[in-house]
Amino acid sequence: MTRAVLSLGANLGDRAAAIRTAFAALKDEGVLVARSTLYETPPWGPVEQPPYLNAIAIVRGDRDAAGWLVRAHELEQAAGRTREVRWGPRTLDVDIVTVTRDDGTPVTSDDPRLTLPHPRAHERAFVLLPWATLEPGAVLPGRGRVADLLAALPADELVAVNRWDHLH
Ligand code: AMP
Repeated sequence: MTRAVLSLGANLGDRAAAIRTAFAALKDEGVLVARSTLYETPPWGPVEQPPYLNAIAIVRGDRDAAGWLVRAHELEQAAGRTREVRWGPRTLDVDIVTVTRDDGTPVTSDDPRLTLPHPRAHERAFVLLPWATLEPGAVLPGRGRVADLLAALPADELVAVNRWDHLH
């Protein structure tokens, strides 16, 4: 058994439905431990595109790290994801933030097909804020406490991540 933290993002079509459908699929499979509420964040990267909804899911199940990546790609495909533009808009993007073994040790990997912990998670407010809210004591292996990483981000990046559920 391993535990994984997944970051979900969507910025095309019915964004909330894409994320909630993925949560439901993980729940039906019996692997969903917890999930954050939805947050709206401005688009990231060089491509002009609509704002994202983002959320975190914590899962636990009988998969290794590669198995969670396969599951992440299945969820993306179920949402109708196509991969045309790198960093471009997508119906659903699922990234693996970190994977932890039952003895508490983190899985680490430099493989570009699956880099763990995720190499940019520590600087992304849309990952850190939902995660810290869901799991206040969380630690990103090799980087430190999620709450501390969040506090170290520029204020403008923090205020750009807004709780979305209660508005809709
Ligand atoms: P993107 O479509 O921009 O999200 O990039 C996805 C690609 O990044 C996938 O094909 C994965 O093989 C690769 N990748 C590397 N590390 C990770 C990770 N920690 N989580 C998800 N995808 C990863």
